[in-house]
Amino acid sequence: MESRASHREVSVAVFFVHGGGDLLLYDVVIIGAGVVGCGAAYALSRYNLKVALVEEGAEVALGASGANSGIVHAGYDPLPGTLAAELNVRGNSLYPQLCRELDVPFCPTGSLVVAGEGEESALDILLARGRANGVADLALLGRDELLNREPNLSPDAAAALYAPSAAIVSPWELVLALAETAAVNGTDFYFNAEVTGIRVGEETLRGVDTSRGPLLAPIVLNAGGIKADLLAALAGAERYDILPRKGEYLLLDKDISGFVRQVVFPLPNPVSKGILVLPTVEGNVLVGPTAQPVWDREDRSTTGEGLAEIQRGARKLFPDLPLRRVIASFAGLRAVCDSGDFVLRSSARVKGWIDAGGIQSPGLSAAPAIWERLVQLVGGLRELEPRERIKRPPLLRLRDLPLAEREERIRENPLYGRIICRCEGVSEGEIVDALHRPLPAVTLDGLKRRTRVGGGRCQGGFCLPRLLAIMSRELGISPLAVTKSGPGSEVLAGLLAKGEER
Ligand SMILES: Cc1cc2nc3c(=O)[nH]c(=O)nc-3n(C[C@H](O)[C@H](O)[C@H](O)COP(=O)(O)OP(=O)(O)OC[C@H]3O[C@@H](n4cnc5c(N)ncnc54)[C@H](O)[C@@H]3O)c2cc1C
Repeated sequence: MESRASHREVSVAVFFVHGGGDLLLYDVVIIGAGVVGCGAAYALSRYNLKVALVEEGAEVALGASGANSGIVHAGYDPLPGTLAAELNVRGNSLYPQLCRELDVPFCPTGSLVVAGEGEESALDILLARGRANGVADLALLGRDELLNREPNLSPDAAAALYAPSAAIVSPWELVLALAETAAVNGTDFYFNAEVTGIRVGEETLRGVDTSRGPLLAPIVLNAGGIKADLLAALAGAERYDILPRKGEYLLLDKDISGFVRQVVFPLPNPVSKGILVLPTVEGNVLVGPTAQPVWDREDRSTTGEGLAEIQRGARKLFPDLPLRRVIASFAGLRAVCDSGDFVLRSSARVKGWIDAGGIQSPGLSAAPAIWERLVQLVGGLRELEPRERIKRPPLLRLRDLPLAEREERIRENPLYGRIICRCEGVSEGEIVDALHRPLPAVTLDGLKRRTRVGGGRCQGGFCLPRLLAIMSRELGISPLAVTKSGPGSEVLAGLLAKGEER
């Protein structure tokens, strides 16, 4: 079986099949293709190491990293003295340069925490916490300044904490850029490969067993998100417990772009930062998330109660927010750790096991600093020899090009002139490119997140048949085999079954 990093300049690995063939040997195996795992692969690709990344899903960022608010928090929220506080502030400072390097969007919007009349003292607590954490340039704003910045805010807003260093990113684009760069620098990616066992002998790591075969390595880095505690237990490493906490969202259409200009929070409550309203880098408005404890680690459903709670919360901040412009809803699961902080450590019990667990919010913001820590932990287990890192092939975003350049591209390749997704203006050429990149899209969701095809107002209602035909042609598979998000989500099989039910 081939690894998914099968591109011209990307090495191709063949899975060891039980009972025959060569065993696959790596220096480091990373579990989990979220922002922590893919970022660790990216950071380690600067060193002379043979690295494999194993992911149970069909694509990158299918866990929390693909379903969050996309905020690079300033760092006033975590309690001083925690790892989360330290790494949030450091991560925030690394983001602008990182996004330039990776060619992914970074929008330094700033953020506001809004208080009503009589609630202003809560802002002083956040301000003091932010200063203790080392967050620069925090300021308290009065009503006039606040309404100047956000004219659609509720007239009940009395004051706010302004954090100019807060920003927004596209979490999906970021993770994909990290993964693609790691792939072109030699990391082997194994998708649809669930880690089912950890090989340990004499308290030393030997490797992992996956649903697709074993991978041997003396170092395993656990970035398993919501399941990291289960993987640590499987390895026999120090124990911690994760309680999933669901966050539901509503995504509003781009035609209200500009209604909110920065990230706007209410005052936080004891379990979460509350229901916030913010722009996305794509120009939509995002509202949420809820904070509901759940037992099921696969439960990413949205609920009537959750969506009603979001609407109530959003109206408190922005009474005139046009909530009828909803185009999608989704949910993500926070990996809330019993310790209340990130777990970043080399195991004292199992030599070679490194945990990156309990990475709940602000995990995305802290991620670049988390990878720095993980590289240090790997460096504590073996010598690291630096090497040159190459960039991934450039992305062509036709909609961002000046007209003359777009026309030039269309002359070179007429597929760039054939618009498939009318809502987002995505051409067939861009779709074909996404199906042949270093980590090619293999699902409809993967294609949507790479190109925005089907991500607009009609949510793929018009372009789905054409997408199925293009994917079938380019991937050399039957249209019946095209999936939404991996094995078991075959789109046409689902539609046919619905038809039969009727
Ligand atoms: C609702 C919500 C809102 C958030 N908002 C923000 C925000 O605005 N800003 C911010 O800084 N942070 C935010 N966060 C937190 C942030 O999203 C996470 O901290 C971060 O994405 C965690 O990344 P990860 O790589 O650890 O986990 P994940 O992205 O969950 O990745 C873990 C991966 O491991 C894989 N995996 C698990 N078990 C196995 C196995 N046995 N074998 C193989 N693969 C396995 C999973 O399939 C998954 O892909 C939010 C989180 C949520 C849920």
